[in-house]
Amino acid sequence: MKKIQIAIDGPAGAGKSTVARRVAKELGYLYIDTGAMYRALTYLALKKKINLNDGAALKRLLDQTSIQLVQTDDGQEVYVDHENVTSEIRSREVSNAVSEVATHKEVRMEMVNRQRMLAQDGGVVMDGRDIGTNVLKDATLKIYLSASVEERARRRCQELQQKGTNTDLAQVKKEIELRDRLDSERDTAPLKKARDAIEIDTTHVTVDEVTKQILSLVKERD
Ligand code: C5P
Repeated sequence: MKKIQIAIDGPAGAGKSTVARRVAKELGYLYIDTGAMYRALTYLALKKKINLNDGAALKRLLDQTSIQLVQTDDGQEVYVDHENVTSEIRSREVSNAVSEVATHKEVRMEMVNRQRMLAQDGGVVMDGRDIGTNVLKDATLKIYLSASVEERARRRCQELQQKGTNTDLAQVKKEIELRDRLDSERDTAPLKKARDAIEIDTTHVTVDEVTKQILSLVKERD
């Protein structure tokens, strides 16, 4: 079976990373979570108190920073300059700031360079917002995962509760809606379905079913 590039895009909470990780595992492919890269930079910028409006300062910080995605048996660990930030980058503070960091063109250009380097050997599942439209325009398979905002907020709440964070569904829904808006309305590489992407609505579908559907699409392309 030849090794292909699979692009998975969609809004927050549509199930991208869970599904992408499963598909990659089944195929023995590399999984690249591009959101984790933007989150890692945001974490560091917040720590260093850098103004998130200042694209040039963020780009300078990124140039001096190594971001590593390390595959483990149960997922992926994220390192910023050798500091393990896997759980820190999922904090609410980072989630609510990351879309602002991701609006800056200079930051995105450098991230996209790094993402293309990681994907160059094929055999990758990459998830994000602009993978099918920009990062891997020639990917063999492009998937766009969607789900109702209510369902996405419910999933996020569940995740946060599992981590012991007290959450309010209405508040989480508001935060997701704001992130959706910033991600789809920005000038550079906004979130949108690529023309040749296959849309899967995950609102009423299990992770298992979506994974199976994607694996059968991969087989069709073999
Ligand atoms: O996928 P995740 O929700 O972790 O992504 C966090 C944020 O990173 C997104 O809301 C978006 O602002 C940004 N992002 C992006 N382009 C990508 C991946 C993520 O702008 N390819």
